[in-house]
Amino acid sequence: MDLWSLQIPVPVALASIATIGYLVSLWNRPVTNDMVIRSRRELKRAQVVALELEKIAWTVRQSLAKHHASVSRFKERVGRLSDRQQEAAWRELCREAENILKPTLQLATQIANAYDAIRQQSANLMTFTEVRTDPLTGVNNRRGLDDSLGTQLALMTRYHSVFSLVMFDIDHFKQINDQEGHLNGDRVLQELARLLDGSIRETDIIARYGGEEFVIVMPQTDLDGASMFAERLRAGVAERMTITVSGGVAAARESDDPESLIARADTALYNAKTAGRNRVFRHTGDDTEPVAAEESHDCLV
Ligand code: GH3
Ligand code: MG
Ligand code: MG
Repeated sequence: MDLWSLQIPVPVALASIATIGYLVSLWNRPVTNDMVIRSRRELKRAQVVALELEKIAWTVRQSLAKHHASVSRFKERVGRLSDRQQEAAWRELCREAENILKPTLQLATQIANAYDAIRQQSANLMTFTEVRTDPLTGVNNRRGLDDSLGTQLALMTRYHSVFSLVMFDIDHFKQINDQEGHLNGDRVLQELARLLDGSIRETDIIARYGGEEFVIVMPQTDLDGASMFAERLRAGVAERMTITVSGGVAAARESDDPESLIARADTALYNAKTAGRNRVFRHTGDDTEPVAAEESHDCLV
């Protein structure tokens, strides 16, 4: 029994197998927090695949319906013939035909059921992404950030790995809204999210934390590394956009929970604001201090 006997067009059959393989392998992995880290880009791809799947499922359903119809027509024809011919011989023939067709029909049902299951899984996948994505900027929302922080803190406890966090806040954003309108303010937020998102490492996680605040979680990065990176980002924003941002950096400690870590970055950010804005401060654990500006900063892509 092969897919050709189901009368499914070859490209559809191959695409179906590839898609099923991709989604099933994706889904068979338990949805751990680990998955959340790399999931945003992965899930974007999955969304595209899921859309393709919809199209494929529709085509396959059409093919199966056609197949069912031709099977029924065949059975009817055989049945009609048996009225006129030797009954026992025709009954035998019918039985044989049914035996031949049964596995085909079973396979068709299995495929239809598999598609239902995959569609359901795709829907779950969509929900998984949607509830963790900020609709305006397309980066993680607070929930996505919480998941990432939970994962990073768990990894820290288990493997004593380091990670840091930087919080950026647009300077005088209220003025931009007031002078240029809320819609333009929204565009600025989108542009900033794009710039930050395009400048971070694959393993970093960016989230919109509040109205005009963004947080970047940097796995395997200590306070010095994160400070340097935050300062480069700040300088890059000032260079490329009409706005400036202030930043606060903090490195995670094993005793941290998400709130305490964010609170330290927030304190550093607050001090960057009061020190004049368009600068980065970092929290050393006891106190905050300014991060020195670099000479050159062409790290942004
Ligand atoms: P600073 O941070 O430098 O102290 O000044 P600020 O003017 O940025 O201060 P504040 O944090 O008080 O203001 C943030 C503003 O961000 C207020 C609000 O109108 C605006 N905002 C929040 N969310 C959105 C949004 O989704 N779209 C737009 N356009 N504006 C937003
Ligand atoms: Mg703010
Ligand atoms: Mg602000």
